[in-house]
Amino acid sequence: MNTAVFRFAPSPNGYLHLGHALSALINFEMARAAGGRFLLRIEDIDAARCRPHYEAAIYEDLAWLGITWEEPVRRQSAHLDDYRAALTRLDGLLYPSFESRGDIARLVAEREIRAPWPRDPDGAPLYPGDARSLSPAERRRRMAAGEPYALRLDMTAAIARTGPLAWIETGPGNETGSVAANPQAWGDVVLARKETPTTYHLSVVVDDARQGVTHVVRGQDLFASTGVHRLLQALLGLPAPNYHHHRLILDAGGRKLSKSTRATALRSLREAGTSAADIRRMVGLA
Ligand code: GLU
Repeated sequence: MNTAVFRFAPSPNGYLHLGHALSALINFEMARAAGGRFLLRIEDIDAARCRPHYEAAIYEDLAWLGITWEEPVRRQSAHLDDYRAALTRLDGLLYPSFESRGDIARLVAEREIRAPWPRDPDGAPLYPGDARSLSPAERRRRMAAGEPYALRLDMTAAIARTGPLAWIETGPGNETGSVAANPQAWGDVVLARKETPTTYHLSVVVDDARQGVTHVVRGQDLFASTGVHRLLQALLGLPAPNYHHHRLILDAGGRKLSKSTRATALRSLREAGTSAADIRRMVGLA
């Protein structure tokens, strides 16, 4: 039998909070129960928001919770060539779009004069532009001129290539077993930008395959993203792990916890005298 491989993959763009504690503990305990391996991955591709002191705090907070992981830790910023190689394999399905965030907001506002413009599962408007129809010469000219751009996946063409897809879900939510992937809900997702050869969706898929991850355990907020991940796995010829999307810890107002709230940061709780055993109780683990 092959060994099960689990991973916890935080971004060092703030201090870990109670939601991360729940995710890391569920992951670690599922790995142990399966006699499997547990990996830690630092998702630090967003250079503008990631900081070394947040990464150091991740190691401290997880160790304090009693979690141990294999070394070396994979840090995404050290593997940009892997993501570039994956982009090359998606050639023919990617196109550059040149609109700024402001341009996109304006385009959506214009479209919404007539009717509501479709949103992705996170509530962001689908790409409203028409960069897919720019001529190859125009694309080359604007890229050569140094204009900022985002590389988008032509979702219709991508789905036509793979056909319908599904993933195996073992999480506690309503949808379990074989779940139909719905990547079209995200429109033409951005997979890279001029200054960074990847985004969350691409690097998570490449890394899970590189690291031989067999079980992805993460919060319910990433359930719908799994459709995009499954599509990228199929396009890149990568194996599909099993998925387990667990419940989220919500604040008093019913919202997802935020890294900017001090009150639920593991670090502040520890400094205030909370023990690791208290944290387990606070996140609802016996
Ligand atoms: N880095 C992501 C986050 O911190 C998690 C990625 C994943 O588990 O797929 O939300």
